[in-house]
Amino acid sequence: SNKEIEKALSQTPDLTKNAITVLEKRYLKRDISGKPVEKPIDMFRRVALNIAEADKNYDKDADILSTATAFYEQMAALKFLPNSPTLMNAGRELQQLAACFVLPVDDSLEAIFEAVKNTALIHKSGGGTGFSFSRLRPKDDVVKTTKGVSSGPVSFMTVFDAATETIKQGGTRRGANMGILRVDHPDIMEFIYAKEDKTKLTNFNLSVGITEKFMQAVLNDTDYDLYNPKTGKTAGKLKAKEVFDTMVQLAWEGGDPGIVYLDRINAENPTPKEGDIESTNPCGEQPLLPYESCNLGSINLGKYVKDGKIDWEDLEKTIEVAVHFLDNVIDMNKYPIQQINDQTKRNRKIGLGLMGWADMLAMLAIPYNTDEATDLAEKVMQFIRDKGREKSSALAVIRGDFPSFKDSIYPKMGFKNMRNATITTIAPTGTISIIGSCSSGIEPYFAIAFYRQVMDNNKLVEVSPVFKDIAKREGFLSDELLEKVAETGTAHGLSMVPEKWQEAFVTSHEITPFWHTKMQAAFQKYTDNAVSKTVNFPNEATIEDVKKTYLLSYNLGCKGTTIYRDGSRTGQVLNVGTKE
Ligand code: ADP
Repeated sequence: SNKEIEKALSQTPDLTKNAITVLEKRYLKRDISGKPVEKPIDMFRRVALNIAEADKNYDKDADILSTATAFYEQMAALKFLPNSPTLMNAGRELQQLAACFVLPVDDSLEAIFEAVKNTALIHKSGGGTGFSFSRLRPKDDVVKTTKGVSSGPVSFMTVFDAATETIKQGGTRRGANMGILRVDHPDIMEFIYAKEDKTKLTNFNLSVGITEKFMQAVLNDTDYDLYNPKTGKTAGKLKAKEVFDTMVQLAWEGGDPGIVYLDRINAENPTPKEGDIESTNPCGEQPLLPYESCNLGSINLGKYVKDGKIDWEDLEKTIEVAVHFLDNVIDMNKYPIQQINDQTKRNRKIGLGLMGWADMLAMLAIPYNTDEATDLAEKVMQFIRDKGREKSSALAVIRGDFPSFKDSIYPKMGFKNMRNATITTIAPTGTISIIGSCSSGIEPYFAIAFYRQVMDNNKLVEVSPVFKDIAKREGFLSDELLEKVAETGTAHGLSMVPEKWQEAFVTSHEITPFWHTKMQAAFQKYTDNAVSKTVNFPNEATIEDVKKTYLLSYNLGCKGTTIYRDGSRTGQVLNVGTKE
């Protein structure tokens, strides 16, 4: 009954004003006039009760309220939050819960426009899409039926871009796409330059799909072969170093293209018999098979620091509940098309990750740019992966293995059971970190404090809550301090802040690309899928600096790299010290 539910799911979520604003704008149920008809607490109840229902698939007498209570408590305490589509759509008509999709794009007009249609359906429901365009024949290749010539992958990408622009997700989120082209596709140079004009393909992130052969050719300074995907025949050669240098230069100019190590991703494909992985989701953290989808969820690490120590037991409890939750999401999801339903349920991938990493480090007084921090990153991520696998195995004993388990990598690794082909992913947590008022993903602080312009033209100083708490506790909090920090974004060099805390609150601009990359690699080591991370460069960084980072990320075992040089794109969302 409603009374029972209200009693069991009663803990009031401790949301900041920003969090409430975001929820009201996009997440809460609204009436036709656009007025919210539920409160944040109702949203968490709606999600918990809906996702708990999947337990009935495995035990018709399951105590749904007790499962819902466990889910609710984690969310209301802001310890664990699922990806946005789950918060928005669970228990509502849409019921589309996943953030990540990959669609195949085959080399025929029918297939291309089928993919455009499916993209539209996914964007409408709040999901993001990734595609490899590598199967399309190159530009100027003959079209048999018409004797005309093909316009090539880059030209077809503009069709997806225009469709995305037009849908804008019915006012909730605008769509996001990843476009990938293999480095050995004949149109690779056109692809690398595709976003040089910054008004083009604005709804796409681009990544070059890098092969081992190509990297070896870069390192040995030799040519490498291009292949026509239609015929499978070689279609010319390029100098690997020149292609690499051009990629680096364009990324330096505007952030695109990034790179993904496709061969490396496939070497770790947990279900090789199910096919090759050719693309990731829009932000790169989730490699998927064609027609696969994945739902994500993130643990807010700042909630597990007690008296300067990590509460591992409490963290373990959250991991268990989170894996149970995410596995249920797969069952409760209403997939936009049948093929996605079927492929997703063969592998049952989930993406459990984290946010609030910078918060955790600051609370422990560990500077982000140190070996101590990267060592802890490995330890935390190994813990999440190991405990996550234990829980997934335990679920499999009751619910069954994921259907493609027998031919997957897990039996060879000694696992008798597994419910999910992947368990860990590190997402950007762009919006859910605002809801959880924590630092996003594994990123360092962008700024400790900044000015936010509010409607009446007043400037408000917005401060990291962790910084404020520690400054208060350590006795160095003052209005003057906050004003000073807001001016430059950092506490570095302020004599009123003890040196230990200046270092613990190091911001992204003070962290070298080397440490950004080291951190990404440390987390990747224990992440089944991939890690969303931007390596930040100062405006004055050189092309050579970017190149060094690409080679470092390759050598350290990352699955991809995204870089951003400060000021290289107009309309940059976050600015330090500009008092906008
Ligand atoms: P959130 O914090 O909203 O849950 P993230 O920032 O962690 O989302 O992004 C996770 C994934 O969600 C992205 O890689 C992408 O697949 C999808 N996604 C994010 N933003 C959008 C968007 N505006 N439209 C469609 N999909 C998105």
